[in-house]
Amino acid sequence: MSDGMIFKCPCCGGFLEFDPQQQKFKCYYCGQVLDEEELREQSEQREAAAEEQQSAETADDQQEHLRSYRCQMCGAEIVTDDTTAATRCYFCHSPVVLHDRLDDEFRPDGVIPFQMDKATAEKQFMEYISRKKFVDRSFFNGAQLEMFSGVYYPWWYTDIEGEAEFEGEGTRTSVRSTPTHIITTTSVFRVHREGRLNFRLLARKALLKADGKLSDGIHPYDASQIQPYASGFLSGFLAERRDVSEASAKEETVAEAKTYAAQLMKQNHSFNSLSGETKFKPINVKSRYVLLPAWVLTYKGGKDGAPYYYMMNGQTGKVCGKLPIDKKRLLATALGIGLAVFLILCGGGAFIW
Ligand SMILES: [Zn+2]
Ligand SMILES: [Zn+2]
Repeated sequence: MSDGMIFKCPCCGGFLEFDPQQQKFKCYYCGQVLDEEELREQSEQREAAAEEQQSAETADDQQEHLRSYRCQMCGAEIVTDDTTAATRCYFCHSPVVLHDRLDDEFRPDGVIPFQMDKATAEKQFMEYISRKKFVDRSFFNGAQLEMFSGVYYPWWYTDIEGEAEFEGEGTRTSVRSTPTHIITTTSVFRVHREGRLNFRLLARKALLKADGKLSDGIHPYDASQIQPYASGFLSGFLAERRDVSEASAKEETVAEAKTYAAQLMKQNHSFNSLSGETKFKPINVKSRYVLLPAWVLTYKGGKDGAPYYYMMNGQTGKVCGKLPIDKKRLLATALGIGLAVFLILCGGGAFIW
């Protein structure tokens, strides 16, 4: 069994967590606040110690500690999923980072730290629900929040530069009338277009089990706020590690870029119709593995206490999920104004608000 990493307060020995309000490391026992430099220093020290322990263990131990960790605060065993990289001890509630899940090839290139604490996120979510029209009144109730956790999810951000070549046929048609005839002239052109295309920050989820609709729906994130990874940012939150390889992320993103290239190469032309084929050759493909913050929540708001699932962007507060529509209220308004189109799409377009 290997030790989970716990970040300890230099003053009182309590545990340190990343505090989104101050964007600093904070001790929840004595209130001590440490700056980012110290967060990075502690991260490096803890990671080095964890790696030393790992290399000292035998291959059998290594197999075993893929599954089990020991809490450094209370000694309890911490059992997790294969992709869990940060969690809390079930017994003493200490925040634990499982370093061996995020080392070597699994070490993230960057992280966007959480921007709001849990209380603020909860408040924003309740405000968001109460602002929505046509939602069942009995749905508003903070007590029905079942679960509300901050999770860092793994994503691939890929930049692609490539050359696109379009080969096809364009037509121009003109119509002219004489006293006896209407003359339609159609000219057919062979069209060749080429150009260099740059796609930046194409995002793909790097964890297969993550809910695609919800997690796509809370994008975009402001990638200019990506910081170099340090394990300390994870302390106090849950984190998942990726199970999608860089190669497959690149392959899928290149395929996605090809469809964009085909659309772009057919835009802005002076023909009445244009058809043909686009070839896209990627020249430079760069991927970055980043952890992005999301609040994941379950709300028991249905008539029989049925659960509703939501995700909230941990950077911007954008929410994605499905709200129960009160059909009577919707109908009443629709009759009044003679319009019943209230389908607002979220992110990928799969959710009706
Ligand atoms: Zn302390
Ligand atoms: Zn513990």
